[in-house]
Amino acid sequence: MAYTVEVIRSRRRSMALQVRPDGSVLVRAPLRTGTPAIRAFVARHGDWIEKQRLRIASAPPVEKLSEEELSLLRRSASERFGERAAVFAPLVGVNYGRITIRCQKSKWGSCSAAGNLNFNCLLMLAPPEVLDYVVVHELCHRLEMNHSDTFWRNVERVLPDWRERRKWLREHGDALMARVR
Ligand SMILES: [Zn+2]
Repeated sequence: MAYTVEVIRSRRRSMALQVRPDGSVLVRAPLRTGTPAIRAFVARHGDWIEKQRLRIASAPPVEKLSEEELSLLRRSASERFGERAAVFAPLVGVNYGRITIRCQKSKWGSCSAAGNLNFNCLLMLAPPEVLDYVVVHELCHRLEMNHSDTFWRNVERVLPDWRERRKWLREHGDALMARVR
C-alpha cells in the first residue's frame, strides 16, 4: 500500500518510525543517514507499518461532545462527585472544602492545599470504579501532597485494587479527553 514518508534528520543515534494519525509515516534519523539506508529501514518495518496503518484506519472516529452534552455531564458530575467524596472522606479520614467540576483535556482531578477538590466531568463516562479511584486519590492528597509510598499505601487501604482502576485510566483516558474540543 502507498503512503508518504517524511524524514526528519537530527542529532540522534538511531532511526525511529512513527505512523501518524493520518496514516503517513515519519522517520527520525541521525543527521548523516543516506536515503538508501532510510528506504531499507522502512522496508524492513513494512509489516509493522501496515499493522499500525490498519489499526488507525479501523479505529472509530472520536466524537466530540457538544456544549449541551458537556453541561449535562457537568451537572450530573457535580452531584455524583459530591456523593462519592462524602462516602470516601470518612474512610480516608479527611475532610475537604469546595468541589469544582471542570470538563478538561488535561487533568482528572486535583486537590488544593486548602482542601478544595477539582474533578473532570469526563469521568462520568468512565466506569464508576474508575471515578471512585480519582475521588479517593484526591482525598488522599489531604494526607500527603505527593505520590510517595505513604500516599499509595493510603489509597490502597481504601481501594486495594487501585492499580487496575488506574490502568483503565491510562489505557482509555486519552480517548476520553479527546472528546473535549
Ligand atoms: Zn495525585
